[in-house]
Amino acid sequence: MPHAALTLLCSLLCLACPISAYAEEIFDGFSLAMLGAHTNTCAITFDDGPGPHTPRLLGILRERNIKATFFVLGSRVARYPQTMRAIAAEGHEVGNHTYSHVNLRNLAPETQRDEIARTDAALLELGIPVRYLRPPYGRYDKNTLEQAAIENLTIVMWSIDSRDWQSPRQPMARVLPRSSSGKVHGVFLFHDNHRSTVDAMPRILDDLAAAGCQFVTLSEYLDNDGPVCLH
Ligand SMILES: [Zn+2]
Repeated sequence: MPHAALTLLCSLLCLACPISAYAEEIFDGFSLAMLGAHTNTCAITFDDGPGPHTPRLLGILRERNIKATFFVLGSRVARYPQTMRAIAAEGHEVGNHTYSHVNLRNLAPETQRDEIARTDAALLELGIPVRYLRPPYGRYDKNTLEQAAIENLTIVMWSIDSRDWQSPRQPMARVLPRSSSGKVHGVFLFHDNHRSTVDAMPRILDDLAAAGCQFVTLSEYLDNDGPVCLH
C-alpha cells in the first residue's frame, strides 16, 4: 500500500494516535514496530559500510538467500566501489547514511545538503538508486526533513538496535521482541564495519530464522498492509 494511502488510513482509523502524530517523512522506531506488529517480517539493516568485512557478509547473506538493506556512507562508496556494486548486484537495498557520518542536527542547511546529495550522487554514479535516508545517530532537524524531501528520500530509523558497536562480543544478546502472536518482527540495526558483527551474523541470522523471521528488504517491510501511526 502506498505510504500516502497508509497515512490517510491511519488518520481515519487510528484514533488512539495524537492528532499531530502524522508525518509522511519519518519512520521512527515506534512506527516501524507498529508496522510489523501483525507480521513475522524482519528487515536486516547494516549501517556505516561498505568496508573490508562487507564482502564476507555478502557471502553469509547469499548462503541463506537473505536480502538486506545497507545504509552506506558516501565517503566509503567512493573508497569501496567494487563492494558497493556487489551489494546492489546481489539484490540488496541501499540507503543514504550521509557522506562522512556527521550529526546532521543543527548543521547549516547547505552542509546538510552536501552530506546527503554527495552520497546520492556517488551511488547514482554506480547506477544505484536510493529511496531512504537514515541520519547518523538518528539525529536530524527540520532542515534534514526539507533536504530529504528535495532529494525524494524517506527517513527511516530502526526498531531493534543490536548495539553491536557497544557489545561487540554479544550483539543481539537482548531479548528478541515478539508480536502479540509470538512472532519476531522489526527493522534490525547492525554495523558491517565491525568484524565482530560479521563474525556473529551466521548465528544471529540462523537464530532469527529459527524464531520465525521472514527476511525482507526495507521497502518490502514498509509495504506491509495495514495503517501505521507515525509520531
Ligand atoms: Zn552510523
